Parts: sequence; C-alpha cells; structure tokens
Amino acid sequence: MSRLFDTHAHVNFNAFREDADEVLRRAIDGGIFVVNVGSQLSTSRRAVEYAKKYSGQGVYAAIGLHPIQLKKRSFEHRDDENDWELPVTEIKTIGETFDFEAYLGLARDPLVVAIGEVGLDYHHFEDGDDIPALKDEQKRVLREFVCLANEVGKPMMIHCWDAYDDLFELFDETSPDKRGIIHSFIGSHKTAKKFLELGWNLGVNGIATYSDSYDRLIREVPLERIVIETDCPYLAPFPHKGERNEPLLVRLVAEKIAAVKGVRFDEVTLVTTKNARDMFGLRG
Ligand SMILES: [Zn+2]
Repeated sequence: MSRLFDTHAHVNFNAFREDADEVLRRAIDGGIFVVNVGSQLSTSRRAVEYAKKYSGQGVYAAIGLHPIQLKKRSFEHRDDENDWELPVTEIKTIGETFDFEAYLGLARDPLVVAIGEVGLDYHHFEDGDDIPALKDEQKRVLREFVCLANEVGKPMMIHCWDAYDDLFELFDETSPDKRGIIHSFIGSHKTAKKFLELGWNLGVNGIATYSDSYDRLIREVPLERIVIETDCPYLAPFPHKGERNEPLLVRLVAEKIAAVKGVRFDEVTLVTTKNARDMFGLRG
C-alpha cells in the first residue's frame, strides 16, 4: 500500500511540546511521511533533531525563517478568518536577525529536504508599521535564501500571502534552481497557472476542506503538480476544524482531492507521494 506524505508539518512547534514524540509515532505507525518545517532558527534546529531521531522512518526536515518572524510582535490567528466561531490562538514572533551561516550549516544536513518556510507575507502588517521597509527586509532575506537553496541544491518551500506579484518579480531576478512548493496555496486560478508554468508544485491542505471555494482549482491543477500537507498544528481539515491538527489528518486532504477530482483515493496517495519524493530527491 502506498503511503501518504505530509509535506508541511510543524510538530517541531510548541503546540506539540508535551507530546511531539507520540504525534510523530502515530504518523510513523500510520505510514505517513512527514517533513517538519522550521519558521525560525530554533524551530529549524528542532526539525532537524526530530529528523535525526526518527531517521529511516520517514521523518524529514525543512529549515527556514518565516517572513513574519522578521519583526517582533504578537497577533491573533484563526484558521479560517471568515469563521468567527473558531478558537483564536495568539502567535508571538521574535524579530529574528537572519544568520546565513547558521542556516547554511543546517541546510547541508542530508535529512533536510527543502529550504523553507521562507517567502513574503504582506497580510500581517499592522497600523504604524513601516510597510515599505518591512517589505524590503522580507525580500532581502528571501533573496538570500534563494542563494542558500541554490548553494545546497535543494528545493524551496514558499509561504506567500498577499504578495504574489512581488514574489514573481523577485524570482525573475533571483531564480531558484529547484522550484519546490508553493505551500498552502490560496491564490487565484490565474496565479496557480503562472506558478505551474514556472515549474512550482502547489501545496494543498485543510483549507480545501472548509468550503468548495478551491474545488475548481483542485479540478484544474494536474494531480502530478499537487502535494498535500497539514500545516499542523494549524488548519485541521473538516470535520476537525478548530482542533489541533496533526500529520495523521493529512488523509482527509487526500480524500477531499479524490472526491473533487473524481479519482480513487489510492491514486491521490500514489501520485502526491511520488511528487513529494521526486521533488525532495528521496529514493527507495
Ligand atoms: Zn507552515
């Protein structure tokens, strides 16, 4: 039987501080491959630690500095901004200064399969922010990460929210050699097409199960260009919406894709896992 591949999980985050090992054990026992994704230096290090601890059992790491981590702040997160009944969690960011050498050291580890999550996020600016300066800083760091990814020859895992035009422009100037994934893709059909033409794969997660808003997109993007993810602890798929997410629930994302595309669940598993393994350069 083929195995599911959760290409974007954060079991390395504090939401799993008490039971990360149990959660990873459940994923491994459920036959699920997992990439734990760092969003700052500390969580990137933890992602690599888990990959080493469970090496040979399908647990890998991605390392990166999320654009919102560049400024220290605190904001309220709700998995679906249109659903006011959902619980609110507070996310605190640290205002990290990018250290190229530290990330490069981590990136060279063979268990690190991608550079991310990195990217641009113009969604979380607040009143009083120096927005042009923050945008410039996000772009500067992303360019450095493109260079870093090219240096180690690994694909990128991109977070992009309300910043697609700037992302395309930046990739025009500083091109990643290995395209990788536009994670948690929520853009338009037109934007999706452009990413596909440029060689990127799209990451689909629990958001696709909240409504039929993304059904058309899922129908039109070839399965060969889709990878699945949980983005846990966030974005638990329906009917677990609002609960803490975990890699085991990636199955519900695959089921939604199968239903929308009218193909068998096994085919979704087989193809999306192959996509992920090919992209991450995993064999066997
Ligand atoms: Zn994430």
